Amino acid sequence: MNSYDIAVLAGDGIGPEVVEATLAVLRKVDARHSLGLGFTELRAGAFAYRDTGTDLSDEVFDRARKADAILLGAMGWPGIRHADGTELAPQITLRQRLDLFGGVRPIRAIPGVPLPLVDPRAAKIDFVILRESTEGLFFSKDKGVVTRDQAEETLRMTRGTSLRLARMAFDLAGQRARRLGRSGRVTLVDKANVFRAFAWLRQIFQEVAVDYPEVRHDAAYVDAMALDLIRRPWDFDLLPTENMFGDILSDLAAGLIGGMGFAPSADLGEGHAVFQPSHGTAPDIAGKGKANPTATILSAAMMLEWLAMRDAGDAMAEAAQEIRAAVDAAFSEGLRTADIGGTSGTAEATRAVLSALR
Ligand code: ATP
Repeated sequence: MNSYDIAVLAGDGIGPEVVEATLAVLRKVDARHSLGLGFTELRAGAFAYRDTGTDLSDEVFDRARKADAILLGAMGWPGIRHADGTELAPQITLRQRLDLFGGVRPIRAIPGVPLPLVDPRAAKIDFVILRESTEGLFFSKDKGVVTRDQAEETLRMTRGTSLRLARMAFDLAGQRARRLGRSGRVTLVDKANVFRAFAWLRQIFQEVAVDYPEVRHDAAYVDAMALDLIRRPWDFDLLPTENMFGDILSDLAAGLIGGMGFAPSADLGEGHAVFQPSHGTAPDIAGKGKANPTATILSAAMMLEWLAMRDAGDAMAEAAQEIRAAVDAAFSEGLRTADIGGTSGTAEATRAVLSALR
């Protein structure tokens, strides 16, 4: 009997390609460790909208909400939009309706993957961007006021969500410190020198930091952080930040480790979680078998780790670690996907990871 119900929303473009690869990896670790994973594939996204008139039906949302975790590919397609011209973004709707405020984006250099920074310390890049995913400047999405002479959007942060974000940052830093055998450090990324809202956010982080004496805590301005992420990214650990800053810094950070194909993510709330690659549907390569499945495979490893922390125990955590080790082994042993100048497509990359699974 399956004990863990995983809702799978493969979505559009390269979504189904990278999800298929990831399911093959999950099925292999499931068979080995008897994890009891059951997968329910659900349809949502731009092509679902084109065919049915809705990008995320109530039935699909309800089914996904009841699952233990949600694995998502990517959604959206150029040329398919809502009747009012706005972009289809059911993944954002999911985030908002399930209150998934914590966007966890680990940025880790995978051994063997060529990096744009030539400094040898770049091989040690291993930090996490924690993007607040329901408020900030995105609070204003679809609410901006635009006239001929003026355009106005609103940034909003609430005390409740900011407190939860701070606790999540310190908890994650503590977990990483234990796993990596080093001390943890939370660096809030903000613009407190210009905006009062960020000075207020700093105070909230300071309040929460008191409960985590074992984790170091500081703050940095977002513009300085953009510079430092290029100059010395190996120095950072846990970087919580506002929604829009997190959106931008996540892409910059993915660039440091080889591109979007290597950047996994988890959108966490209380009781619900969506795991998906940081990239989009990549229409330029969709259907060509070229997509790098690594980001999605690593997102699935995050999913197993999250389930392990909730109640699923050691086998689930071990399987997560094995997946990460297999990805590292595949690239160390010469796998080169097309996005880093190699020739391996999705199928070959998947085979390499499957055969590297211990
Ligand atoms: P979105 O707005 O949904 O994030 P986007 O069009 O801005 O989408 P992506 O779909 O992430 O961005 O694509 C950006 C670039 O990265 C494209 O050139 C795409 O081919 C490439 N890319 C994204 N994901 C992958 C992947 N898994 N493998 C290879 N290349 C990828």
